[in-house]
Amino acid sequence: MISDGRSRTRTYAAGALALLAFATGCGDNGGGGSAPAAQGTGTASAAPRPTGGAPATAAPTTAAPAGADAAAWAKWNLTPLAPAPAPPADKPIKLERTGTVPVFSEVKTNDKVVFVTIDDGAEKDPKFVEMLTDLKVPISMFLTRDIVRNDYAYFKPLQALGNHIQNHTVDHPVMSKIPAEKQKSEICDAQSALTQQYGTAPLLFRPPFGDGAGTATLNTSVQQCGPRAIVLWRESMQIHDMQYQAGDKKLKPGDIILAHFRGPSELKGATMTQMFGDLLARIQEQGFSVARLEDYIQAPAS
Ligand SMILES: [Zn+2]
Repeated sequence: MISDGRSRTRTYAAGALALLAFATGCGDNGGGGSAPAAQGTGTASAAPRPTGGAPATAAPTTAAPAGADAAAWAKWNLTPLAPAPAPPADKPIKLERTGTVPVFSEVKTNDKVVFVTIDDGAEKDPKFVEMLTDLKVPISMFLTRDIVRNDYAYFKPLQALGNHIQNHTVDHPVMSKIPAEKQKSEICDAQSALTQQYGTAPLLFRPPFGDGAGTATLNTSVQQCGPRAIVLWRESMQIHDMQYQAGDKKLKPGDIILAHFRGPSELKGATMTQMFGDLLARIQEQGFSVARLEDYIQAPAS
């Protein structure tokens, strides 16, 4: 999709994409994949509760970073994820200032890292801010204006941790079902609101459900509003497990994972922090670290 031929990203035909997106995309209520919650690798009965504040007796079973970090992870009933390697100096994805925007759902890298993106913004659980402040796991937030506008401030401490705010429309429509002018207002109005609220313009756009990502109409609409890439995903976090697009149900280096700001009403009683802890455990047990997506993307020269 990049006109200069440097694209190393994967693109998808719109039809196949829509099928995948509707099977796994945001907007569903995560009915699939609800295996028993297995948090961390320790013995559950001996571990502190996820929201407890007394990690003193937890014994890390793997080599941990600094002691304070291990205690922070133990507070959430998790063992520390291996730190991500330093971001590549030569970014695998290079965005251009003008022209067609690339569509990607993974990043080409040999680093054993995956990227976590969290969408919409419905659940605003203070415990999740506390969790990310403790763990400092990088995330990218694709926010929908009308879902976050009742509390823009919730996301600011998450942003202050170094996490980026990205564009996920005004009110979460199925983009291919609306005309070009409406597509444009969905993206441009969210872009201006998010830029005003968070002080920086989103570089990336994600269409709700992944719908329309491969269409020329949506690509043009995105170009008119400022984001310089359309970002999809390879895995979708449900409640305790991920749905995989790959048949082998395994993470690959550079995969982008979709999750949502969701609470107990959408997670069959589980909390946002329990869902996120289970996501980290699923990543850890496959030997991956979490890196920051924007650290693997070169923004256009200004
Ligand atoms: Zn969404």
